[in-house]
Amino acid sequence: MKGKRTLPEKKDRGSLFIVSAPSGAGKTTLCKKVLSALPYLKFSVSYTTRQPRKGEVNDREYTFIRRDEFTRMAKKGDFIEWAEIHGELYGTSKKRIEELLAAGNDVLLDIDVQGASQVRKKSREGVYIFILPPSLGELRTRLEKRMTDSQANIKKRLKTALSEIKEYTAYDYVIMNDILNDAVRVLEAIIIARRASIKK
Ligand code: ADP
Ligand code: 5GP
Repeated sequence: MKGKRTLPEKKDRGSLFIVSAPSGAGKTTLCKKVLSALPYLKFSVSYTTRQPRKGEVNDREYTFIRRDEFTRMAKKGDFIEWAEIHGELYGTSKKRIEELLAAGNDVLLDIDVQGASQVRKKSREGVYIFILPPSLGELRTRLEKRMTDSQANIKKRLKTALSEIKEYTAYDYVIMNDILNDAVRVLEAIIIARRASIKK
């Protein structure tokens, strides 16, 4: 039986996985690991008005667009959800996720709690996963070590984190991202279990 795949095969239509976390909890790191480990799992590339960070590539992490373009798309109804976060706009394209799901891929949405709540209202499908940092002190350390945000920005993100963490009860699963590889295993397990499910 060497070489035979034992993971559940892909279905005709994929499932939607909505992952939220306070900024700095490690959601991007975690999602990247799981995306490279599991076949048929695709990342939904959001649109944003924020500037690219060092190393970010257009259409890979985000599609970076101007505010007027974003507003035009939002008015046309191109987004399944969108939100203003720390002064910038972020939105999920309806067309992008629908195409991926229809091709049988599972789709990972990395969106904030406001966005997740909008998707919950609009779509019956979806598995909701919340990533928690081990503590607020550790969250601050991670944001500082990442060196992508100013002190003022970190302060804003920590303040937002407190209100976001209160929302975790609206999610189906909570993953504590303390030891990274353990958190990766839990996220993979949730996705694999969903694939094996016979419920729609
Ligand atoms: P988010 O996408 O949630 O804002 P990132 O994935 O950018 O967070 O992670 C924030 C920082 O914390 C990064 O520098 C990342 O390398 C680090 N990090 C992520 N997970 C862990 C972990 N389990 N233990 C220690 N550091 C981590
Ligand atoms: P960052 O600027 O650190 O990449 O992301 C900031 C926040 O925006 C994160 O909580 C991330 O999950 C969220 N985010 C990214 N894309 C989207 C999106 O399309 N919609 C919403 N609502 N949030 C998003």
